Amino acid sequence: MTLHSRALAAQSNCSAAPIGIFGGTFDPVHFGHLRPALDLLEQLSLAEVRFIPCRHPPHRQLPVANPEQRLAMLRLAIAGESRFRVDERELARTGPSYMVDTLASLRAEQGNVPLCLIMGTDAFQGLPKWHRWTELIELAHLLVMRRPGGLLPRGDELGDFFEARRIHDPAQLMQQPMGFILPLEVTPLEISATRIRTLVEAGGSARYLLPSVVWNYIQKECLYLPSLSTPEK
Ligand code: ATP
Repeated sequence: MTLHSRALAAQSNCSAAPIGIFGGTFDPVHFGHLRPALDLLEQLSLAEVRFIPCRHPPHRQLPVANPEQRLAMLRLAIAGESRFRVDERELARTGPSYMVDTLASLRAEQGNVPLCLIMGTDAFQGLPKWHRWTELIELAHLLVMRRPGGLLPRGDELGDFFEARRIHDPAQLMQQPMGFILPLEVTPLEISATRIRTLVEAGGSARYLLPSVVWNYIQKECLYLPSLSTPEK
């Protein structure tokens, strides 16, 4: 625990620093995930950020890289940053990877430690499509990172949900283990995994959009190249 988080803990009801929970497909992991995660870790004195790759994303197409490859890329990307961890619980589960189940299992392990589910504005806008989405806030706080061009919801069901729980002071995350929503500015990086896959499929380089160890792995595994199957005549 850092001095800053100890000072926050002293004024709060929770005695341990919050844990960041960062779910995604990570197909592949890139600097748009890594730098904002580090920004949050340092801004909020999080104890750690756990990257949780999902096996079966319920609301989108299946990832291109398989779970083992996505896990390998994450491990390579975070090696050397001891405050980042990979958590494999969604890969070990069968069926759709519902975040509400993931948070419930983390909550059962962590007692009243504040859990902070990290997501970009795009993911937050899609929240009402998530399984049992209103229950997420009963298990964790939500940290919403502004993505370039991303907007916060207003005037609809999600907007009301957001306004009712929104906080401005990060110290409040230590007052209770779950229940608040905190929007945050992070390093704006207009990088997406979709853009990387599209670039590689078109024969381009993804260098400097992700860690070089991940780019080397993508090349070694021939990931994201056009399918070699010949079209039927
Ligand atoms: P894809 O393009 O395949 O949808 P992605 O780059 O958005 O992938 P995901 O693994 O789907 O990455 O995203 C995991 C989480 O990371 C989401 O909450 C998403 O909003 C967030 N995220 C992804 N890229 C960025 C970025 N450049 N800045 C801030 N947040 C990001």
